[in-house]
Amino acid sequence: MRKVLVLEDESSIRSFIVINLRRAGYDAIEAETGEEALEKLREHPDTAVALLDIMLPGIDGFEVCRRIRATNSRIGIIMLTARSQEMDKVTGLMTGADDYVTKPFSPAELTARVDALFRRSGGEEPAAAGEIRQPPFLLNTQNRTLEKNGQRVKLTQVEYSIMKVFMEHPGKALSREEILDKVWGRDYFGELKIVDVNIRRLRLKIEDNVQNPTYITTVWGFGYKWGL
Ligand code: CA
Repeated sequence: MRKVLVLEDESSIRSFIVINLRRAGYDAIEAETGEEALEKLREHPDTAVALLDIMLPGIDGFEVCRRIRATNSRIGIIMLTARSQEMDKVTGLMTGADDYVTKPFSPAELTARVDALFRRSGGEEPAAAGEIRQPPFLLNTQNRTLEKNGQRVKLTQVEYSIMKVFMEHPGKALSREEILDKVWGRDYFGELKIVDVNIRRLRLKIEDNVQNPTYITTVWGFGYKWGL
C-alpha cells in the first residue's frame, strides 16, 4: 500500500495536498488535528509516510512527530513548515522527522519528497540478505537494524541508510552531495543541510562521546568519513 498521512488543519491546504498525492498514485489519509493523526495511524499501521503541519490546534506537529517516533522508527516523516519558521526546521529534524517542506510548495516538489521517502521507508527496496560487521557495530541489512556492542540502536530509516553508506565505505571521505544522492536519491532536490542535521542526530545515537566523534568524523569543507 502507498499510504500517506496528511496532517494539516487548514482545509484548503489539506485538500491541495491530498488531491496531488492521489494524482501521484498515493492513498492519502487525512487528519485535521494531531490527536486525530495519531488515531488514524493506529488504524493504518502500514502508512509509509506522514506529512505533519507544525502549527495546529491542540498538540503541535513536533509533539505528533515525537509520539509517532516513540513507537515507529520505520515511517517517513516530513514536516510542513511556514517560511518564518526557520528554526522549526532544525528542531523538527531533531525530534525525528526525516525531511521538511517549506510553504508554499509546488505539487511537484511535494511529490518528489514523498517519493524519495517512500523508497527509503522500504516500500520498493529489494531486501539484500546479510550483515556488515565492524566492531563494535553490526548492521543487519535484512532487518535494517543496527547493534552496537550487541545492543540495538533505534534508528529511523534515513539514519539506517546513512549508516549503511558509511559502513559500505569504511575510511572513505564522502562528500555531503554524495551522501545526499545515495540516501535521498538523485532526483531529490532538497538542501545539503539535511545531511548535517541527520548526521548530528546519528552521532547522538552511536558515538561514545558526541563532543569528540570517532566513528563518523568530519572532513572539513567536504563531508564525512566512517572512522578516523
Ligand atoms: Ca496549521
